[in-house]
Amino acid sequence: MPHPSSAGGRFIGLSAPLLAVAYVVLTAGPVLLASFTGGQQGPTAFSLLARAAGVAALAMFLMQFVTSGRFETISGRIGLDRTMGFHRLAAGGALGMLGLHIVFFLFRPGESGVAAMARRLFGYLLRADLFTGVVATLLAVFLILAGKYLRGKLLPYPAWRLGHGAAAVALVLLGLHHAFTNARFMADPLGASALLFIALVALASLLVVYVLRPVHAFRNGFTVASARALSPTIAELVLKTDTPERFSFAAGQFAWLTIGRRHTVTDNPFSIASAPSDLPELRFLIRDAGDMSGSITRLASGTRIGVDGPHGSFTLNEAGDGPILLLAGGIGIAPVLSLVRALAAAGDPRPVRLIAGARSAADHVVRTEIEDLMAGHDFRAIFLTDMDDEAGCEKGTCDAGHLARILDGLDPGAVTAFVCGPPVMMETAVGLLVEAGVPAERVVMERFDFDAGDDVICRIVRRRFISVMALVYGATFAVALTAALFR
Ligand SMILES: Cc1cc2nc3c(=O)[nH]c(=O)nc-3n(C[C@H](O)[C@H](O)[C@H](O)COP(=O)(O)OP(=O)(O)OC[C@H]3O[C@@H](n4cnc5c(N)ncnc54)[C@H](O)[C@@H]3O)c2cc1C
Repeated sequence: MPHPSSAGGRFIGLSAPLLAVAYVVLTAGPVLLASFTGGQQGPTAFSLLARAAGVAALAMFLMQFVTSGRFETISGRIGLDRTMGFHRLAAGGALGMLGLHIVFFLFRPGESGVAAMARRLFGYLLRADLFTGVVATLLAVFLILAGKYLRGKLLPYPAWRLGHGAAAVALVLLGLHHAFTNARFMADPLGASALLFIALVALASLLVVYVLRPVHAFRNGFTVASARALSPTIAELVLKTDTPERFSFAAGQFAWLTIGRRHTVTDNPFSIASAPSDLPELRFLIRDAGDMSGSITRLASGTRIGVDGPHGSFTLNEAGDGPILLLAGGIGIAPVLSLVRALAAAGDPRPVRLIAGARSAADHVVRTEIEDLMAGHDFRAIFLTDMDDEAGCEKGTCDAGHLARILDGLDPGAVTAFVCGPPVMMETAVGLLVEAGVPAERVVMERFDFDAGDDVICRIVRRRFISVMALVYGATFAVALTAALFR
């Protein structure tokens, strides 16, 4: 599948292998640099390993700011869901490295029994000069457990997000204090400079996201043109701008929306449902999922909306020359509509097939629009609902039979499939697509939640992420052990 790095002249991000190399260099690099200039001097091999693990862990936590899903250079080609998947996995990797940092310090040649190590651990916990390191470790454990189990549960989502960010900043500040005031490793000028450089990259990424982007998001000049309910649970929001030249996007991408005077700290991601040719209007289909999404229909026309985007790789840029299969579940129809509108506007000759599922026929809010747009095109669609006897819809969820029917007459190996919907639907659909002969690398997905999927493609991607982590661990400890040998 072609993966051009630019769309319409616009840079859309780095490739996965390049990102992997950059991550390994930036996380294991400080350890390597330190070993060149004698900073690895230490009493035992264990203390060298401990310091190497500490520096790598800190570099990994700093890199979490860069992989937070807001940078197109990172997520433009691999997608937001994969970026967030890596962010989650790398958090675990950083915590593991931090654990090794502590465990290695507990070892002493000749006195490494459990009781001696427990005594030493207790001693470390009470040492005033290790206070920031201890608090940073506790924060890291809390952050990762809260991210996994409490996200969007105890606290409203925006409050959780703010707390997560604030705790992450506190964690790296405490970690940097610990490194620069305690670890002998940091007495080394090159290692310390490398870590400082990564800290500056993290700081710059925070400034971009929380200072530059909020300003830029309102520079596009978008205001509400109309906001209306299309069904009891789905609203349509149309924005317009007098300066359309300041905003461009590819069909299928999404933007972070901020309403009125709110800061982008509380923004929400929504797929653009219109096509680029519909500018100066931008259209969104929004399902009532909570505070912000439930208040769309109350927005007065003329309300200023911050639009930070475009983001995402759910675009025709990812498609080959063969047929296009669109699978949408529920509000997943929003980016799919954008693709359909773009294909229709371009008079694209590729066959287009659609399977769209919704709770009821009334929730197929853009069915007529899609059928009108695709009139005269090589197009077939199946509309599914959960209910019986819904006019023109079939009952049930997408299964192998539906796929076989919709792909009839097409070569599955040449199809590019675009899948967007609830997590369960996506997992099932991806499995069915691969079974039907659609190559896994030709399945393009957009997840509306940041939880990890458990489909065949997610499993392949997770294995690649684990290989990147293995490289970071391998490089860190290989360098530390080599330094120990030449001590
Ligand atoms: C790439 C992407 C594209 C999306 N496109 C659409 C779309 O076109 N139409 C649509 O209806 N929904 C879309 N969503 C989902 C939408 O962002 C959430 O439903 C919305 O943010 C809920 O906000 P709320 O304030 O109403 O809900 P809240 O009450 O704040 O939260 C409800 C749930 O929504 C999710 N959520 C809330 N805020 C965010 C956030 N900032 N980032 C990610 N998830 C969040 C969380 O799972 C949370 O538990 C998309 C999500 C993503 C990640």
